[in-house]
Amino acid sequence: MTEITHFIDNTRVKGMSGRSQPVFNPATGEAEKTVALASAQEVGRAVAAAHAALPAWSKTPALRRARILDRFKMILWDRADQLAEAISAEHGKTHDDAKGEVTRGLEVVEFAAGAPHLLKGEITENVGTAVDSHSLRQPLGVVAGITPFNFPAMVPMWMFPVALACGNTFILKPSERDPSASLLIAEWLAEAGLPKGVFNVVQGDKEAVDALLTHPDVKAISFVGSTPIAKYIYETGTANGKRVQALGGAKNHMVILPDADLDMAANALMGAAYGSAGERCMAISVAVPVTDKVADALIERLVPKIEALKVGPAADRSSEMGPVVTAAARDKIKSLIDRGEAEGAKLVVDGRGFTPPQGYENGYFVGPTLIDNVTPDMTIWKEEVFGPVLSVVRRKDYAAAVDLIHAHDYANGVAVFTRDGDAARSFAHDIEVGMVGVNIPIPVPMAFHSFGGWKQSLFGDHHMHGPEGVRFYTRLKTITTRWPSGVRTDPEFVMPTMG
Ligand code: NAD
Repeated sequence: MTEITHFIDNTRVKGMSGRSQPVFNPATGEAEKTVALASAQEVGRAVAAAHAALPAWSKTPALRRARILDRFKMILWDRADQLAEAISAEHGKTHDDAKGEVTRGLEVVEFAAGAPHLLKGEITENVGTAVDSHSLRQPLGVVAGITPFNFPAMVPMWMFPVALACGNTFILKPSERDPSASLLIAEWLAEAGLPKGVFNVVQGDKEAVDALLTHPDVKAISFVGSTPIAKYIYETGTANGKRVQALGGAKNHMVILPDADLDMAANALMGAAYGSAGERCMAISVAVPVTDKVADALIERLVPKIEALKVGPAADRSSEMGPVVTAAARDKIKSLIDRGEAEGAKLVVDGRGFTPPQGYENGYFVGPTLIDNVTPDMTIWKEEVFGPVLSVVRRKDYAAAVDLIHAHDYANGVAVFTRDGDAARSFAHDIEVGMVGVNIPIPVPMAFHSFGGWKQSLFGDHHMHGPEGVRFYTRLKTITTRWPSGVRTDPEFVMPTMG
């Protein structure tokens, strides 16, 4: 069975810890590969490689670093299908969806290739007589990224292109559930001319993560995953003196006001709730129609579309939705639907008994599910389902819809569908959520803006990529300069002032 290895100093490195775990194809339920699980010593080896590469890389002109990223971008364009196939084989998402993920990641590479501009500093002449001041941003050092299963290419690309462009060296610890994409990325970076040690991959689980969190030479940690782990990463990383940005889970609501275009809203919900089998941190998992009349009309439009959705393996290019990632994920999703039913919600479309296509009987499929009359005291509303399940929480007016959203601990994304500019503007301004869409169901910011939620969806001060990414991966230095000519030489014992 193929072993998915680490990647250190531009070379695939076999696992030495004696620990590994199977990697499953979610469409068939078969374990086709194994992934090495790194020990603290193996993590130490990767950190040492990144540390050794740091002096030369951090001093490499930003333009040259950018040109390497530019070549990597062209390789990604050319081989997007190959990367998408690797993603689908371990994650289960459809080929087009996987290609979409690659494209969204590639956009961050394009942004980061603007590094010479992004790293320009500020200068003030004559802050005092013949005294000048300039500020510049320098890299942090060795930085690490710990990433979730749901975007095995895009989420790492939210991190490392900006980190590398800023002059840091990088260690990626991808999800152990779909680790192959990380190796392709690492090899293509090397092919693009990245010097050895600048980008390394350690495969692994908690043991590898803990080694990164406590290693004195790792200066910053970027994390994306579930909220309990995000909180742990933030607390442990900062307690060990590291800069940390830790993005967590989500429960994204879509408010449909009475004046909304309901056909547009229903189509938007289909993609946002069931695309990628709901395994997106920006998936809409709660529809909030305002008034019962809107709820009934919306459900009437949704049901035939849900029933017509083509669920199947990525190998069938006509599939619109694939399986979920593991048997455990499938069982958890089904048990949350059970809880919803037991707690009094109404199952309008039930995906629990979905029959997979022939040949894929052992795949981890859950059919698209629609649950009406969900209320905020129910588990199905409180917990992140991370599956193809859309809850409908009916509200009588706009204020009740806003209160519902504010009552949730998560605050990653939110959307409002309306034709009323005033209502949309108030919503966008007042809602306490990090990313807002107006008639846009999945408002994922483009690479040149920054991505991040509020409340329990993000721990730390910086969002990812865009200008926030540059701030996260650099530290500010301010240099004040005076040259000898025409300057008094008497000693000064009072607090220096420039006036
Ligand atoms: P996860 O938290 O289980 O795993 C994320 C990473 O943490 C993996 O690399 C994993 O190996 C590691 N990890 C897991 N358990 C650990 C532990 N006990 N100690 C240390 N490290 C540990 O998340 P997942 O299931 O891979 O991904 C899905 C979750 O990620 C969902 O909650 C989703 O909302 C979230 N997510 C959030 C965003 C965002 O931008 N906010 C984006 C994508 C995914």
